[in-house]
Amino acid sequence: MRAHEHEVSLEEAERLHQERVAALVEQHLQESAAPATRTLPSPRRHSWLLPCMVSIVSTAIIGLQTPALLDMLKERPPLRNGTAATDAFTDACINQLWTISSLRQQKQTFTHIVEPLSQKPYVTKTIQGETIVECPTPALHGVTALRISDNAPVPEVIK
Ligand SMILES: [Zn+2]
Repeated sequence: MRAHEHEVSLEEAERLHQERVAALVEQHLQESAAPATRTLPSPRRHSWLLPCMVSIVSTAIIGLQTPALLDMLKERPPLRNGTAATDAFTDACINQLWTISSLRQQKQTFTHIVEPLSQKPYVTKTIQGETIVECPTPALHGVTALRISDNAPVPEVIK
């Protein structure tokens, strides 16, 4: 009889234990849900923080880049020699000549580069041992020549 009572109380204890566990799980779920709702106003309260940090980071990036930018502006040669008035296509053509000039200095081929206005490849000439690369259709720009050469790697506009 005692043993039976004891068994009953064990079952009872087990049942109570399971209820307790269930209650704890319930409590835990409520507690873990609660902080989420409590912290919601927090980002709004500190809404100034993100733009402020972005601004600090941006300033830092600009600060880091500024010396490089200044160096570039200082060291970059003028876009072209000569004073010819040029339009967008002429500027694009001059940019291609810049690219060709840079490729030539790196001993790389530039035959894949086409003239932006006529879509023709650039013309390479050798005059008295000097290599000249020029726009195939300077007349379309209203000039005599657009070119770079061994002696003048900066694009030249010849009116
Ligand atoms: Zn051109």
